[in-house]
Amino acid sequence: MTSARTRERLISRLRESGITDERVLEAIRATPRHLFVDEALSHQAYDDTALPIGHGQTISQPWVVARMTELLIEQAIPEKVLEVGTGCGYQTAVLAAFARQVCSVERIRPLQDAARLRLRELGLANRVQLRHADGGFGWSSAAPFDGILVTCARPDIPEELLAQLAEGGRLVMPVGDRQQRLTVVDRHGNELVSRALDPVRFVPFQRGVQ
Ligand code: SAH
Repeated sequence: MTSARTRERLISRLRESGITDERVLEAIRATPRHLFVDEALSHQAYDDTALPIGHGQTISQPWVVARMTELLIEQAIPEKVLEVGTGCGYQTAVLAAFARQVCSVERIRPLQDAARLRLRELGLANRVQLRHADGGFGWSSAAPFDGILVTCARPDIPEELLAQLAEGGRLVMPVGDRQQRLTVVDRHGNELVSRALDPVRFVPFQRGVQ
């Protein structure tokens, strides 16, 4: 159920649903999604669906992970990336296939602990730094970031995140209330250029830590 054939079916599925960046498809192919979900759900790990990871949260649908990554690296591969919402760490692992340094923030401690173990087992500990905090404040001591990817939804983009976006950098985030659009913001000097793209459904951005 986690065979090469099952994984290949997911790649075909992503192509059919519009993912065209071969570098992203290769990163998804190389990332063992079954290791990021509970063993009882591993037979569904290569379906193109979100799955529960506990604490009321979900591992994002592969299409969403692929699409957000594709948007993040569209113009240039970012060297340093901030991720808000580590969850199980799957998107973190996909980002680590590209960025030299991934700084990822999660507000729910047990999710972060589990993600840390998995990322270590996959040999990604040297590229990934994890922090237990409210990601709405970004990670100021590690800023600026060439790329910022937010995996939980809010009607507005936190000012602190925009302030931590490097010159020429790009932020990708689901923006909206119950219905959201994937939104891309590019920084050109003091100017921020924003575009709302695909409709998506993400778990909500929540304040504080737990
Ligand atoms: N990329 C993750 C998605 C997990 S769902 C994955 O593929 O598994 C979104 C995550 O964002 C949840 O784990 C949730 O706890 C976290 N989150 C929500 N609000 C947050 C905040 N303010 N700061 C940090 N993490 C947050």
